[in-house]
Order: sequence, then structure tokens, then C-alpha cells
Amino acid sequence: MTDSLARELACIDCGTVHPLGYRLECEKCRGLLELRYDLDVLRARGPALLAGGGLWRYAPVLPIADPAHRVTLGEGGTPLLDCPRLSKVLGVRSLAVKFEGANPTGTVKDRSSATGVAAALQFGFTATSVVSSGNAGSSIAAYSARAGLRSLIFAYARASAPKLLHMAATTADLVLYEGVYDDLITHWDRLVESRLFFDCGASRNAYKHEGKKTIGYEIAEQSGWRPPDVVVAPVAVGETFIAAARGFREMRDAGWIPRVPRMVAAQATRANAISRAFRSGRPLEPLKIGYTVAEGLAAGNPGRKGEWVLRLLRDGRGAAGDAEDEQILEAQRTLARTEGIWAGPTGVATLAVLGKMLAAKELDPAQSYCAIVSETGLKTEAAPPSRAATAFDFDSLERLVEQRLARA
Ligand SMILES: *Cc1c(COP(=O)(O)O)cnc(C)c1O
Ligand SMILES: [Zn+2]
Repeated sequence: MTDSLARELACIDCGTVHPLGYRLECEKCRGLLELRYDLDVLRARGPALLAGGGLWRYAPVLPIADPAHRVTLGEGGTPLLDCPRLSKVLGVRSLAVKFEGANPTGTVKDRSSATGVAAALQFGFTATSVVSSGNAGSSIAAYSARAGLRSLIFAYARASAPKLLHMAATTADLVLYEGVYDDLITHWDRLVESRLFFDCGASRNAYKHEGKKTIGYEIAEQSGWRPPDVVVAPVAVGETFIAAARGFREMRDAGWIPRVPRMVAAQATRANAISRAFRSGRPLEPLKIGYTVAEGLAAGNPGRKGEWVLRLLRDGRGAAGDAEDEQILEAQRTLARTEGIWAGPTGVATLAVLGKMLAAKELDPAQSYCAIVSETGLKTEAAPPSRAATAFDFDSLERLVEQRLARA
């Protein structure tokens, strides 16, 4: 078993260093905290330090000390799929899809749920809680059940039926809320201070956030430690984006990869607070948002993590874009038809944004790309296609097969 090399928590605003513990913000300035690791050991031992498979292969760069706390449902180790036909459609030299739909509950959330629930065990909590548009709720419920913890899940009443079914089956404590995520999250974040439950939300908990860093490590390792030029990541409040970017910087600082990829933040136009601020060069302003098919990206107020995304974009030559719901649904069909990958609308927002930015010549087609496709299509709810059916005898069957396959 590999030891965790986590050494301290550092404030991203004032730099004050705090010892490891369940601490959600800087004692001096209330800034967000990030985990820091023993870079000397990472540098000296290199990737040979890694052992085993899945998310916990990266245990040295995760903050869970005791292997007994490392809860798992088989998350991580998702495929990085080279997509030659989709590359041709988009007109890029190369494009790989990091397919997070292969995770146990079908989304990227399983990475942060694994370290979040493991941290709840590490700090002696018996219950977890989260406010969710659907994916985080089903994932936290699943990992809490797996760890023998209770989970109090607040889910968006408009979440898709498969997500609601999944949550209702997995936790005894599912509460549906009216309105949008942003309205409830302010109250819930305040309640976290009472320590009635372990914070499995996306606003502040560095331990939970850290699991998503493994997506960057996997992209690098699966690329032979030469990551693609550009990585396109979905952004709701920014956990996935920030964690991937931090992972790449950590690997570069440890000498595991020669350079960090350029990061592109992808949002839904109906929830585009970050891309709007970045593209206009203005401060982040919360938006009142309605429904978007990219349910997992429906955050109008990304808060302090949104500021963090902007800082990473501005410091790191990043880019940002957003796509309309129709463009997202189009990207969903294109991905399925060209590569056989069935992803949900939230998952393909990155591809819709990539296509749009390439068409607008905002990105260079000669570079190599990786798009994070963050969820399976199997949790989406939609009216089924036509159920009009045909009855066959042998002759009519043969005729149909010949006609169909003769078509160009
Ligand atoms: C939550 C979620 C995201 C991104 O959210 P961040 O908080 O920005 O990491 C992306 N895709 C899916 C499917 C999600 O559920
Ligand atoms: Zn501080």
C-alpha cells in the first residue's frame, strides 16, 4: 500500500499554510484551501511510485492516509479514447475523449465522492450531505452506502427520472427541493458549520475536490506522460477544471510531464457566468438561470471556485466558451454516430464548445485535443424515438436488409 504524500493545506489567496485536518477555509482570510504534497518524493521516485489500478492508484497524491478509509466502487481508470472519425468531422489533427461515463454511477462525480466519503471516514463522521442537480446526489449516496454512512441528499426536483430513481433506491434520506441549486446552496453551506454532517458539496471541501485531480493524472499517464496540447473541461462551479489543472501543474513541478496542457473551460450558454466573465475580461457576476439540458452544469453562481477558474484561465493562457442547448444535443448525436460513445448532454458540452470554437477559429486545429466527456447518456430522460414497428416474413426481411445495406 502506498502512503499519502499530502503534507499541508495552503490558502489559495494569502498563502497561509495550515496543518492537515477537516478545515474548509483559511483561518486568516477565509480563502479556499488546496492540498500540498511532498514534491521532493514525487520528483525522486517518479511515476514508479504508483501501484494498483483505478482512482486509488494515485493514492500518493490524494489526502487519505489510512488505506482502510479508501472506499471504492471501481471508479477511475476510465478510457481515453482516440476519436479519428470525430476528429475528421471537427477538422482537428487529433482528438481523444476521456470518457467519464465509465465510472460506477456514470459520471465524473465518482472521483470526488470517493475521496469525499473517504475523508468523512478519516475525520470520524457518520453522515454525509450534498445539494445536487442529480449526479452528485446519486454518487455521494452510493459511496456513503458503500462506506456504511448515512447520506442526506438534496436533489433538484427536475432531475431526470433515472437519476431520481437511482438516488431514491440508494439513500433513505432523499429530499427534493424547489427552485435552483444556487438558492439552496447558500443556506446549506452555512449549515455545514454545525458539523451535523460531512460537507460533500462543491463549494469548499478540499478533500472531496481532490479526487477529481486523478482525471488529470490519468490523461497524462494514458498519454505516456505526454499529455495533449489542449484539454477541454466542463465547468459548473469548476471542480473538475481546477482539479485537472492542479494535477497537471503538480506533475510538471514534479518533473513527470514536460509541460501543462492549455485548459479550455466549457459551459452551457444558459449557465455561462464564467465563460462570459473570461471572454469579456470583466469580473464574475452571478446569473439567474433557468433550465439547461446540461443539468450538471446548471450553476449560475459558481462562487469562489468560479473566481479560481478565472484566475487559472487568466494565468495559464486558457480559453473559455459556451454552447446552446441545441448545439449540445447535436454534439451528443454526433459523438454517438461517429464513435459509438453515448454520453449525456452535460457530458458533451465540452465537444459542443470545442466544435464551436474551432469553427470560429478561436482554437488551432493543428493541435492535439482531449475533451472530458463527463457522463453516460444512460441517465438522461427523453421521449423514446418512434415505436412504429414492422412485421416480417422471410422475403420482406431479405428485401429490407438488401435495401438498407445497399444504401450509400
Ligand atoms: C458536476 C458535473 C460536472 C462539472 O461540475 P464541476 O463542479 O464544475 O466540476 C460536469 N459533468 C457532470 C456530468 C457533472 O455531473
Ligand atoms: Zn488566506
